[in-house]
Amino acid sequence: MPLVSMRQLLDEAAKGGYGVGAFNVNNMEQIQAIMEAARATKSPVIVQASRGARQYSQDNFLYHLMLAAAELYPEIPVAMHQDHGNSFETCKSAIELGFTSVMMDGSLKADGKTPTDFEENVEVTRKVVEYAHERGVTVEGEIGVLGGIEDGHGAGGTGLEHVTDPDQAVEFAERTGVDALAIAIGTSHGAYKFSKKPDGSVLKMDILIEIHKRLPRTHLVMHGSSSVPKDLQDIVNKYGGHLKETWGVPVEEIQLGIKHGVRKINVDTDNRLAITGAIRKVLFENPEKFDPRDYNKPAREAMQKVVTERMTQFGQAGNAGDYSPKTIEEMREGYADGTLETRPSLAGAH
Ligand SMILES: [Zn+2]
Repeated sequence: MPLVSMRQLLDEAAKGGYGVGAFNVNNMEQIQAIMEAARATKSPVIVQASRGARQYSQDNFLYHLMLAAAELYPEIPVAMHQDHGNSFETCKSAIELGFTSVMMDGSLKADGKTPTDFEENVEVTRKVVEYAHERGVTVEGEIGVLGGIEDGHGAGGTGLEHVTDPDQAVEFAERTGVDALAIAIGTSHGAYKFSKKPDGSVLKMDILIEIHKRLPRTHLVMHGSSSVPKDLQDIVNKYGGHLKETWGVPVEEIQLGIKHGVRKINVDTDNRLAITGAIRKVLFENPEKFDPRDYNKPAREAMQKVVTERMTQFGQAGNAGDYSPKTIEEMREGYADGTLETRPSLAGAH
């Protein structure tokens, strides 16, 4: 199966009432862990790479690993997504490379740190949407600003400083025509999301529910949605790590989001913790070992276990064979003739 459009994965998820995990990758083992989990659970899946990942792995290594994944797991619909594109140029280069989806994070300036104003965000996102849709590629935008920093990207601070305003979300969707929209409801990137177990005062699920009511055709995206399970933190700390106690987004909150239009859930931190814990354990218990496979294999298995669990919790498990993938050319036609229109004022026409 060739790499498929993220828009199609999300449209199908909306029909089926489930969410699709988007897992970050930097290397071969992470891609293998995700694909094995997808095969075991029969899940469609989104594999995503940040700018940092593209730099770390070099574009061509990453792209050809993804082609290998599509070749080796032909029964799995897999979309390849640029996570947090910081500029039109970043998104354009991803599309030229063969990504089937891009995120234009216009909530921040190209430095990836300074919040933009609304008009700047609309302008750059609209430009990416025009370029991408003409090529059949999906676009995710962001309105509101997430807390924290990951891979050098983020405004820092808590997630509550720039929570998404529903009126602005609607205007943004109308003026940009994005396929998917990341909203800020109090979550943060990185391991240190909350200093206590989050409840209604930190996670603004009511805002998410209102936005979905007003934008039923725009797929919502939850960023910073690792659950940061205590058992994974404990393994890292047991074998010589020093992580401060922290809380992530409870899976039940994500499942509530999925009931209200969340179709893409970004998970990175949990996998990082699983990998690091597994590697620490091997080296701590077997200080004589020096073959990288001795720790990379358990690390890959630990990540696969987390991904398998999330695929089941998000509901994507069992849905890989529900539909046959559209070509990127078919998606291009859908954007051109308006059948894939998401803008509230135009979407009803089709
Ligand atoms: Zn993010």
